[in-house]
Amino acid sequence: MDPRVTTLNDRPVRAGAKYVLYWMQMNRRARSNHALEHAAAQANRLGLPLLVYEGLTYRYPYASDRLHAFLLEGVPETVRRLRARGIGYVFYLRRRESDPGDVLYRISGDAAMVVADDYPVFVAARHNANVPGRIGVRYDVVESTCVVPAALFDKKEYGAYTLRPKLRRVLPEWMRPVERVPVEHPWTGPVPAFHTEVTESNARGLAAECDIDHSVKPSICFTGGAIQAEARLRAFLESDLKRYERDRNEPAAHATSNLSPWLHFGHISALEVALAARLHASENGLPGEGFLEELIVRRELAYNHARLAADPASLDSLPQWARATLDKQRAVSREFLYTPEEFETARTHDALWNACQTELLLRGKIHGYYRMYWGKKIIEWSASPEEALETMVRLNDRYALDGRDPNGYTNILWCFGLHDRPWQERPVFGMVRTMTLGGMKRKTGVDAYLREIAWLAVQ
Ligand SMILES: Cc1cc2nc3c(=O)[nH]c(=O)nc-3n(C[C@H](O)[C@H](O)[C@H](O)COP(=O)(O)OP(=O)(O)OC[C@H]3O[C@@H](n4cnc5c(N)ncnc54)[C@H](O)[C@@H]3O)c2cc1C
Repeated sequence: MDPRVTTLNDRPVRAGAKYVLYWMQMNRRARSNHALEHAAAQANRLGLPLLVYEGLTYRYPYASDRLHAFLLEGVPETVRRLRARGIGYVFYLRRRESDPGDVLYRISGDAAMVVADDYPVFVAARHNANVPGRIGVRYDVVESTCVVPAALFDKKEYGAYTLRPKLRRVLPEWMRPVERVPVEHPWTGPVPAFHTEVTESNARGLAAECDIDHSVKPSICFTGGAIQAEARLRAFLESDLKRYERDRNEPAAHATSNLSPWLHFGHISALEVALAARLHASENGLPGEGFLEELIVRRELAYNHARLAADPASLDSLPQWARATLDKQRAVSREFLYTPEEFETARTHDALWNACQTELLLRGKIHGYYRMYWGKKIIEWSASPEEALETMVRLNDRYALDGRDPNGYTNILWCFGLHDRPWQERPVFGMVRTMTLGGMKRKTGVDAYLREIAWLAVQ
């Protein structure tokens, strides 16, 4: 039994079908993708070709030019790589309400079985809960987002300290490249009528045609796709890994990988990044452990929370001590209070916080260290923990390229005490850890960051 694979219904494999269908929802890549290889193996077993279906609809929450453009930019390279392997491909862009909404069901009518991505949150989680019961064929989901299959850990972890030793024990078994399965029956079928041809030059134009939020513009610095992701990884390994341990908490030093947008959209796999980082570190005598701790332990802790919490983005999922201590502070008066709109438009009294929010608005990502400060201050300046949570989730999901992700919901709850321990009691936070502007000034180059963001804002 492969712990990455789960069959979500009891429907049969269709006899006389034309292909096996892989519904590429989260692992939007042709390399290092366990789901694609599982689908290829099933197609070979059944003597059929493999067809990959990728869809994008106008109607998912927060759909905007920014998110649509990033996703669409990844399509041309995925197509090239799949076609080179003899795998069929169809992309359907549902631009507006009047466009057909049942394309998956139509295309699965000729499929022997459907393979999809296993993913614990947002739209893919909802699809995997609803579609298997409504589709006439076997529906397998395959987890290819974590280095170690998340299903191996069926207990909700208290923190990195409980997950780390478990991961260490099994990591050697899972830190292996994904084996590529050569397809035995190359795709020769026609391109279905509802296919949308996506190219590097029309990706942003296609986004502009959709009934989505056009006020959230594409990121000023991140472009989607495997080629961009792989180039970023190479640049990180060559110039930044050596200084990662020292400078990763210094935002103005730009020492982190910035890979999270591509990891979120599945344009690159965490496994591929981890293997490349480990190899580069060992060949060059560099410390790679700090980076692998974030990429594997912290990230897979987030997936553990997202998979096993009843609602991964709810304050009900906090440990009991955190809920109790925050409750005790409800009546405490807040020195500053801002509306969701003031937060969104970066209009607080704090220049550092405003710069973080401006970075989110423009780049679609805040440096990880200041992201903690950003979250903590939203708690401090909101009327209640519930209001703070709503603001954080909304801003992160709407503007962050890497939002709508287990890492987002888990780290937002970290700001409220998840996976942390009680600290000295303070107003508003109770025993939940606080972060202060004074601390940021002591530990990081706030002025250099403010100058950088001010420059960005006038470009
Ligand atoms: C309030 C808040 C919201 C966040 N929202 C998101 C989000 O929506 N999506 C997201 O991917 N991350 C989120 N993070 C976690 C973290 O800030 C980002 O993963 C990191 O900043 C991404 O930048 P990077 O790729 O340069 O990271 P690097 O330092 O280069 O790390 C490499 C990879 O490790 C993983 N990683 C790093 N830090 C963490 C962490 N603390 N927890 C889990 N995985 C981690 C990411 O996949 C990251 O790309 C959030 C953190 C906070 C405090």
